[in-house]
Amino acid sequence: MITQGVRVTGRCSSCGGTTTCDVGQFFDHGMLCWGTEGRCADCPNTWCEKDSGLVTPENIREVLLQAHGPARLRLSGDVPSLVPVLQALRDAHELSLGEARARATELAETGLIGTLVEMEVLAVHLRNRAIAVSVESAA
Ligand SMILES: [Zn+2]
Repeated sequence: MITQGVRVTGRCSSCGGTTTCDVGQFFDHGMLCWGTEGRCADCPNTWCEKDSGLVTPENIREVLLQAHGPARLRLSGDVPSLVPVLQALRDAHELSLGEARARATELAETGLIGTLVEMEVLAVHLRNRAIAVSVESAA
């Protein structure tokens, strides 16, 4: 399982006390999932939200990107044709052909940027099609 998380503190909306919240993204059984789970130290206020899907809510991505910095996915060798890259990107993200083409070009030229889990998920799809890629810190 590929996972990345961060614990953030905040202020409780019910009592004004200190809350801690675990925010994370993970890749499990072929699904990109995200979750946030928080509790207040001073009152019974708790919350938990979990879901999976192609797009993680932007506030969760921001927290992860701020805490860990972005990751960059790059092709690690020469790719004779972008066709398998296109196919892998479409598998991963249900992109239109035009969108996939733009992403594939970006990947070949500068690499793609996102959260570590998002880039690792794409890497899995690309490696499934025998395309060598690497994920590194983009900070
Ligand atoms: Zn509270």
